[in-house]
Amino acid sequence: MSTFLGMPVRAPRGVGHLRGDQSFPAAAKEALGNSQLRRNLQHATTTIRGKSGRVIAELPDWQELRSAGSALKAYTMANLPLLLTQLEEKVTAAGGVVHWAADANEANQIVTDLVARTGEKRVIKVKSMATQEIGLNEALEAAGIAPVETDLAELIVQLGEDKPSHILVPAIHRNRAEIREIFLRAMPGVDPKLTDDPPVLAGAARRYLREIFMRTKVAVSGANFGIAETGTLAVVESEGNGRMCLTLPDTLITVMGIEKVVPAWADLEVFLQLLPRASTGERMNPYTSMWTGVTPGDGPQNFHLVLLDNGRTAVLADEVGRQALHCIRCSACLNVCPVYERTGGHAYGSVYPGPIGAVLSPQLTGVEDNASLPYASSLCGACFDACPVKIDIPSILVHLRNQAPHARTEAAVMAAAAYTMDHPRLYASAQRAAKLARIAGRRGRGLPPPLNGWSASRDLPSPPDETFRDWWRGR
Ligand code: SF4
Repeated sequence: MSTFLGMPVRAPRGVGHLRGDQSFPAAAKEALGNSQLRRNLQHATTTIRGKSGRVIAELPDWQELRSAGSALKAYTMANLPLLLTQLEEKVTAAGGVVHWAADANEANQIVTDLVARTGEKRVIKVKSMATQEIGLNEALEAAGIAPVETDLAELIVQLGEDKPSHILVPAIHRNRAEIREIFLRAMPGVDPKLTDDPPVLAGAARRYLREIFMRTKVAVSGANFGIAETGTLAVVESEGNGRMCLTLPDTLITVMGIEKVVPAWADLEVFLQLLPRASTGERMNPYTSMWTGVTPGDGPQNFHLVLLDNGRTAVLADEVGRQALHCIRCSACLNVCPVYERTGGHAYGSVYPGPIGAVLSPQLTGVEDNASLPYASSLCGACFDACPVKIDIPSILVHLRNQAPHARTEAAVMAAAAYTMDHPRLYASAQRAAKLARIAGRRGRGLPPPLNGWSASRDLPSPPDETFRDWWRGR
């Protein structure tokens, strides 16, 4: 049996959260002006880095585990159609229904229709990057269905009408005083004497969510892994909210990016060691929920799996860029990135921030729609060293820079320079022109448009008073 996915297309415009309103440099400049944000980020990333480093150091075979994770992902990408159809067969045989969504619009429509068919007006959600990517909350709200985020950080972001800024800690840009204000302003029934003590804030969220868990009949989740061999889906999380969403409701709808499939049950042995240590700095994940289709009398009795492409097949077609699909969303690359630590996640304009966002978002949308992101890096290589599945992010960044629109300008300038240097008279004229520009007072001011972007942060060397040719002629 084969399933035709259609020709590879990029994630469509006008839906979802893969494109920012402004370029990375403009957004980063704004973010850098916010000293509170920088303090929050520095504190959070330093803490996670330290914790993660300590538990990784405990494993003598960490490098071998990384290699195994990398090899498993490469195998998966090389056999994706086969593994996806195997997953579909197994999920269907276990009582689930599989839907194929070519893009964000299709996925949103499928989920909205499924919820509408239940007659429910509210869904509870497990934290899911895929549903944020496609803008599912907006699509549900437009259909009169209220989505409630149940992950604490996602709830803070939702109540604050904000955007997530970190893969793992979406409210990393907020401190506890800000969270207290958000709860007082937007959480129904909250105690007005609420303090900013973390256990008190967590308690308020727990009370608010517990009531919603007990009364909501439909849940939407993402998936960290989908096992082709058995049709089992897995979600890893730290708060237990996911476990509630995955077990209490009558209907469960899971939206999973097609790259999240893994071949066999035994492969989780590798990924469930890599993921918690690289992400939260824990030895094992606090809540790992797994389910296979429907079990009569136990858990949701209706299960739908939406397999999402939304640009992924196009990424797979790029031999260098496809490594970005190996990502297990641990966020280690964010926590070590000197650029992310200073700008935060909003500057990237996409739900995928940091180094992985800088290589994944432009590929999902097409580089022209996120042209500044491949430049949002110093190419220091810290992300490559930290990545538990060894994604060579710096090489993908350079590869994408070559596809960015200004790469064409750069190539044209280099070609023109090569031609000029190859023609002595032209070269002598260019030298005279450079000297005139100096006399006209452009010294130290950089290049004129459209090349001024290059010299915006670089000093152009001043032409000498006398060129070698002038000196030679004078002798
Ligand atoms: S690219 Fe690697 S380090 Fe970054 S989030 Fe993905 S798996 Fe983690």
